[in-house]
Amino acid sequence: MSAYTQTERTRVRRAHERGSYDKETVHAILDAGFVCHVGFAVEDQTYVIPTLYWREGERVMIHGSTASRMIRVLQAGADACLTVTHVDGLVLARSAFHHSANFRSVVILGKTHTIDDPAEKEHVLKNFVDGLYPGRWDGLRPMLDKEDKATTVLAFDLKEVSAKVRTGGPIDDEEDYALPIWAGTIPLTTTMGEVIPDERLIPGTPQPDYVPNGIPFLNK
Ligand SMILES: Cc1cc2nc3c(=O)[nH]c(=O)nc-3n(C[C@H](O)[C@H](O)[C@H](O)COP(=O)(O)OP(=O)(O)OC[C@H]3O[C@@H](n4cnc5c(N)ncnc54)[C@H](O)[C@@H]3O)c2cc1C
Repeated sequence: MSAYTQTERTRVRRAHERGSYDKETVHAILDAGFVCHVGFAVEDQTYVIPTLYWREGERVMIHGSTASRMIRVLQAGADACLTVTHVDGLVLARSAFHHSANFRSVVILGKTHTIDDPAEKEHVLKNFVDGLYPGRWDGLRPMLDKEDKATTVLAFDLKEVSAKVRTGGPIDDEEDYALPIWAGTIPLTTTMGEVIPDERLIPGTPQPDYVPNGIPFLNK
């Protein structure tokens, strides 16, 4: 798989060796999550709003209420920045300065475009649901027209994209390794709790296989 073209805006400057433009790396980081933060400016104020996302090939989708300010501002052509972050560990060094975190993150720059075509919109929304819960869409009540109208799907093209990844333990100053100070890494993972069936379930409704105790799609 090829790489995204590095631009002046996506050139990783600090710890640049941790930067990557490799498509496989970017896709893997995107596919391991579902929450992003979208930044955009309205007049003199910058907003960074958390929202759900999913990837389809070379596009990352978000969705929201047609009335949402974020959706309206992005639809109007605002320059935006979408960021995805996974924190994989806390890194404790022998000095405060060298403490760090292990992470995988992606930053996408660009404008969005609206998925207007009804068939395409339904297809990408199905992929969104089925991406989290394989096979769920076909078992759901079909979307109503008013629900379709109330929902906007926007796509960011993966063009101006960078990834940054830190792995491994602390990197201390050489002389500090002689100090009797504990150092190491505390790994962090996202785990799933015990499932809580809805209290208004029809008794006997079977729990689907895609609702196990332990989310298979996290940290994949
Ligand atoms: C994990 C997660 C996933 C989400 N997924 C979606 C999604 O897929 N689609 C969707 O439309 N929305 C999602 N939301 C909600 C989203 O963050 C916004 O609240 C929502 O889009 C409302 O936008 P708005 O245009 O009405 O609000 P705005 O008009 O943009 O917000 C007005 C003000 O309200 C405050 N505000 C708005 N949202 C938040 C927030 N989340 N936390 C704290 N303050 C806030 C801010 O001060 C903001 O300036 C998600 C939120 C979280 C935390």
